[in-house]
Amino acid sequence: MSPATGTIFRIKKYALHDGPGIRTTVFLKGCPLSCWWCHNPEGQNRQPEPMAAKNGAGPSAADAETIGRRVTVAEVVREIEKDLVFYDSSGGGSTFSGGEPLSQPAFLHALLQACREREIHTAVDTSGYAPVETLAALLGLVDLWLFDLKILDESAHRRHTGVSNRPILRNLRQIAAGSGKVVIRFALVPGITDDNDNLEQLARLVRSLGTVSRIDLLPYHAAAAGKYRRLGKENKLRVLKPPTARRVAAVENFLTSRGLQVQVGG
Ligand code: SF4
Repeated sequence: MSPATGTIFRIKKYALHDGPGIRTTVFLKGCPLSCWWCHNPEGQNRQPEPMAAKNGAGPSAADAETIGRRVTVAEVVREIEKDLVFYDSSGGGSTFSGGEPLSQPAFLHALLQACREREIHTAVDTSGYAPVETLAALLGLVDLWLFDLKILDESAHRRHTGVSNRPILRNLRQIAAGSGKVVIRFALVPGITDDNDNLEQLARLVRSLGTVSRIDLLPYHAAAAGKYRRLGKENKLRVLKPPTARRVAAVENFLTSRGLQVQVGG
């Protein structure tokens, strides 16, 4: 097996919302984006970092911790393999998320290769922001792409995520052209991603790609507020309220009326 190592910040067992069946989700650390609504801000920095205690006490407090650790591919695969019996009975497998998993391409490649050798189904949850060569090297190893689409207007995308959406859209089209299976994940963030123009452009793009099976509509929630505080990071959406159930249903209906299969939640 490859000796490649990488940095992760969590392994979630028995995950039910990161692809089909029961899964083990591995969260890789580091992301080139800085989405205002990010609910995993502890995944953005590539390096391990301190997270203060919940009550703001110093680094010696019991629940103060360091987020992120270096691991080998073999260690991660050993953890994934522990639940083979659940994957087999549920049609599950492993999911690589983050952060942005494509930001550690050699490590991700080695993990995917190891899963392929063991016939473990793989999903990659990605923003799609990566060099074209990175994507090309992974295409044949990923069974399902969980592809996060955000904002179709380029300048609004830059403003709210820090990067252009051009590489993202190019990569999505490349996956679709190669017949890769894709589920689109769309965070519904009031006042940022939920305007009619963005929804219409999203629907048009997804319809034009033959291999997208579904859109997962993910209503914004403020559950990560405590993590921003503990990391000392600015939370730009501190006062934003989640969308109402009525608004979520309206967006679901809108996308369904455009011929798309929609699921609320992951
Ligand atoms: S791409 Fe995902 S992990 Fe990266 S900042 Fe955006 S929401 Fe967070």
